[in-house]
Amino acid sequence: MLEIAVFAVATVFVLVLLAYFQAPILVWTLAAGVLLATWAAALQFSGQTNAVLFFVFILIAPVLSVPALRRRLVSDHVLAVFRRILPDMSQTEKEAIDAGTVWWDADLFSGKPDWNKMLAIPAPQLSAEEQAFLDGPCEDVCAMTNDWEVTHERQDLPPRVWQYLKDKGFFGMIIPKKYGGLGFSALGHSAVVLKLSTRSNALGVSVMVPNSLGPAELLLHYGTDAQKDHYLPRLAKGLEIPCFALTSPEAGSDAAAIPDYGIVCKGMVQGREVLGMRVTWDKRYITLGPVATLLGLAFRLYDPEHLLGEKADLGITCALVPTNHPGVNIGRRHLPLNAAFQNGPNSGRDVFMPIDWIIGGKDYAGKGWMMLMGCLAAGRSISLPTSSAGGAKALARVTGAYARVRSQFKTPIGKLEGVEEALGRIAANCYMMDAVRVMTAGAVDLGEKPAVISAIAKYHMTERARLCVNDAMDIHGGKGICLGPNNWVGRGYQVMPVGITVEGANILTRTLIIFGQGAIRCHPYVLREMRAAKEMTGAAASVEFDDAFTSHIGHTLSNGVRAFVHGITSSRLGQVPRGGAPETRHYYRFTSRLAAAFAFLADVSMLAMGGALKRKEKISGRLGDVLSMLYLVSATLKHYEDQGRNKEDLPLIRWVVRDLLYHAQEAIDQILSNFPVKSVATLLRWTIFPLGMSFRPPLDSRNRECAKIVLEPGAARDRLTGGVYVPKNESDPTGVLEAAFLAAIACEPIDEKLRKAVKKGKIVPGPGVDSGLLAKENQIISAEEYSLWQRKETLRRNVIKVDDFPQDFGRAEIASTLAQEKTPTAKAA
Ligand SMILES: Cc1cc2nc3c(=O)[nH]c(=O)nc-3n(C[C@H](O)[C@H](O)[C@H](O)COP(=O)(O)OP(=O)(O)OC[C@H]3O[C@@H](n4cnc5c(N)ncnc54)[C@H](O)[C@@H]3O)c2cc1C
Repeated sequence: MLEIAVFAVATVFVLVLLAYFQAPILVWTLAAGVLLATWAAALQFSGQTNAVLFFVFILIAPVLSVPALRRRLVSDHVLAVFRRILPDMSQTEKEAIDAGTVWWDADLFSGKPDWNKMLAIPAPQLSAEEQAFLDGPCEDVCAMTNDWEVTHERQDLPPRVWQYLKDKGFFGMIIPKKYGGLGFSALGHSAVVLKLSTRSNALGVSVMVPNSLGPAELLLHYGTDAQKDHYLPRLAKGLEIPCFALTSPEAGSDAAAIPDYGIVCKGMVQGREVLGMRVTWDKRYITLGPVATLLGLAFRLYDPEHLLGEKADLGITCALVPTNHPGVNIGRRHLPLNAAFQNGPNSGRDVFMPIDWIIGGKDYAGKGWMMLMGCLAAGRSISLPTSSAGGAKALARVTGAYARVRSQFKTPIGKLEGVEEALGRIAANCYMMDAVRVMTAGAVDLGEKPAVISAIAKYHMTERARLCVNDAMDIHGGKGICLGPNNWVGRGYQVMPVGITVEGANILTRTLIIFGQGAIRCHPYVLREMRAAKEMTGAAASVEFDDAFTSHIGHTLSNGVRAFVHGITSSRLGQVPRGGAPETRHYYRFTSRLAAAFAFLADVSMLAMGGALKRKEKISGRLGDVLSMLYLVSATLKHYEDQGRNKEDLPLIRWVVRDLLYHAQEAIDQILSNFPVKSVATLLRWTIFPLGMSFRPPLDSRNRECAKIVLEPGAARDRLTGGVYVPKNESDPTGVLEAAFLAAIACEPIDEKLRKAVKKGKIVPGPGVDSGLLAKENQIISAEEYSLWQRKETLRRNVIKVDDFPQDFGRAEIASTLAQEKTPTAKAA
């Protein structure tokens, strides 16, 4: 009996080892043979049993291990079924799937992230020129911009700011130097947008949009030489203000369904007949549209007279249209939640334009969707992750400072536990968001167009920014609610939903894109299987499918076994990077465990639900969440290494990683609770959580340490909020806040002396009583201390004040000032 038990354990051990290391089929076959022989010898089976076993083995082994036989008897049949059940993809779906590249997301999807590979990716760095631009023109334009003037008085950037942005090349950061642009790296571009966004949303957006997906990016990739030579230098110098119009009233998220159309035809241009198109469109929500001089326009092109070729429905096409072209209606504005960046509708009816206005010329007619999808990832990797990280940094800095300056119950509010909880969350989220911003921009600088990662970064950074701004609003109380020049959080709160909605609305991005695209693009075998089924035929399809399919089975088995083994060993066998920081090693192990669990769960979900998984958005959204958490943890751990393992930052890393792993575990738990096949869900739960769910949310003590980082001046706070605009001027509301924060801390010993004096009855505070003066007169504090204390009090009162307005909110005065500005004679007078 004991012998049987020992053999059984040994057999299981061998099988687990083979699966764990994803052994090739031949090794499995040989191992099966050896195990069978050993069992037969040890248990002294009868001759008849041995013969049956031998026969079965001889029958199955070649089928599994000889590819030609396996294909014929197994994989070709699976391929036939797969071909039948695999839904056809539309051209636009295909182009979306093919767009961009996969990067670290593929490692995560494999279930075996190679941490050495991740840490070997060079730490992204700004060039000296980019740093100089940040310290020079960026600082200057921030100092020139007053967000209250922009959002309330003008609802636009002032002319002097527009001009400065054009003159200094802000609109041409992605345009190479040979065309007169700044030719910045993705990280440099991100750092500029970050700083500007922390001063004024309109400033950030107005610079972000021309450098994101739009005319310049499309021209760089697809433009003809003539188009590039004409437009790129003009865009670089701000002689053209671009916008890109895709969205129309009938087609928002489903942008490929735009009803806007063009008909290829001949028409007259400057007295000459030329080949062109008559275009009709109705667009809305177009950023910079109302002030644009160059309209990037997407529409569907038809060629009923076959003037371009055989196809009548050419597909989505992108053209560049000067906005002063006859028939273009542009200039009216939307008011997106009081945001002051320019945004509005535009339209045209039967507007004739030459065919060479198509970006890339007539050869690119109908290739617009491929062009848009191809360029989407770079901009999406930078714009919203950056403005969100910038928002979080600014909020961490000002909210920490305000929570130290503002006291209630005789205590700085930041030291009250409830406030501390929200503040610690802001600080920790801010660290993670910056880590994701830098890693993602770094990927773009390495030449990647990370399609799935850009969706993860866009979705999660905007969602975390929303959490941060909600927390910051709560901490500021009424100070955050009453708008005015002295409110530094209210406008951020107002415009937050804009980031949630644009560049792929968040619900759609989470539930359809992240896992939907990831499952096909990042999975090591799914795309190969799909291509073999749909794009290949004959022997080539058979060989390709067989190889991908058998590897896929080994991959799934391996991840299941690894998830289980990690589960029962508390992740002790998980990979850690060579030379990684000892204090974070366990996080790599935990993440390896969840990566294996995710990969296994993803495969089983695809197998159990097939094509229906795409419609089960609640499940695929949560699968996307797990993948996303793995990416966010990776970025956080890498950031810690790249920044030189600053021990002061450890509380932030500890909070973040625990929070992310816990969220990943919760998402898996919810998938299992809602899994359509209950028996499979139970098996999955045993495999993934054999000893229960072990990840816990961050500890309160950690949260306190995170809050402390933003409640104290110092290197950790400066690092966390690095890159934000900090006004040096005390006439600026956030400049005063910074000064009041430092003064509050410097005066804490003086405040303590006053408190003790009051307690002992040496001074009696009361209405109109200057406690500091009394303390000075009673020699409790020195004259020097009194003057420090007085300054602190003046700054504090300045910080806590909120704005009030005349009945008309000063509109009459504003209108008259703006009118005078527009009338040079009045100005001169
Ligand atoms: C301020 C602002 C600036 C913009 N700038 C530009 C610009 O410069 N150029 C441009 O072309 N466009 C621009 N847009 C348009 C923007 O890209 C769209 O608003 C966005 O695509 C969403 O479209 P929609 O607003 O029509 O929402 P809808 O498409 O109606 O979506 C409504 C909701 O349904 C969800 N949803 C839709 N489909 C699915 C699905 N399959 N699964 C799950 N959920 C789904 C969405 O996530 C969203 O929550 C801008 C929009 C705004 C508000």
